[in-house]
Amino acid sequence: MTPAVNTPVATVKRRLTENLKRVRGTIEAACSRARRDPESVRIVAVTKYVDMDVLRQALDLGLQDLGESRAQQLSQRAGMIHEHIDRKNTLAGVKGKLAPRPRWHMVGHVQRNKIKLILPWTELVHSVDSLRLAEDLHQHGEKVGRVVDILLQVNTSGERSKFGVAVGAVPHLAEQFAQWPGIRLRGLMTMAPADAQPGELRLFFERLHDVFTDMRDEGLVGQQFTELSMGMSGDYETAIECGATMVRLGQALFDGMMTTPPEDDPPEAPE
Ligand SMILES: *Cc1c(COP(=O)(O)O)cnc(C)c1O
Repeated sequence: MTPAVNTPVATVKRRLTENLKRVRGTIEAACSRARRDPESVRIVAVTKYVDMDVLRQALDLGLQDLGESRAQQLSQRAGMIHEHIDRKNTLAGVKGKLAPRPRWHMVGHVQRNKIKLILPWTELVHSVDSLRLAEDLHQHGEKVGRVVDILLQVNTSGERSKFGVAVGAVPHLAEQFAQWPGIRLRGLMTMAPADAQPGELRLFFERLHDVFTDMRDEGLVGQQFTELSMGMSGDYETAIECGATMVRLGQALFDGMMTTPPEDDPPEAPE
């Protein structure tokens, strides 16, 4: 893992292109083993370790789903990128091809006092891990006249994870969320512990997939409940084999371009 400061743009582009090609190959292979369509797996590029130049390159290469784990960084970056794109589109005029805006995903723990900051930008909050957070999101959504798409973060590994709600609490929470029109539960998310063994990983991901299918089979959730966000750089192949529809990738994409080493990214402290 080589942190790179001020890497020339051409080098960033070449490395990112290579990494992306490798990742897409890995996704295709995992899909083929699981008899799945590679189109059914979306890459969320987690950009928290890289600077803005690398992020822009990622957009240029067609990565349209970007994930951040901190509220402040997400809102700042989204603001900058959207301004940049709007300016480009204005210059291109009516005849030009309009650049699309990326979709921002909040993947880290959300402090309730940061909701206002992220809501204007965020397409999907992956990390809803309490009733109170969901209720606040619902209330803010209602206030600004939109429906906030969320995933419920589930703790599939018991004692070994601090984040996510217990598997047993999921159906009840989903029923509660359905009463709140300001939010829409789109699916489930989990994070495997960093030290999980390959066999355990499969267990955690299968556990989430089972809960997901049970909820659909029992009619606890509607048509919109389609997403399973699981799998990071170290474990996304297994997650895809277990049914992931979104993989959240940082290091696998940005290896050789990271300015912030992964160990400098502690989760935001609980309130
Ligand atoms: C940082 C982060 C990722 C990406 O991690 P990598 O191991 O670099 O792929 C995915 N999900 C969450 C919640 C994260 O905080």
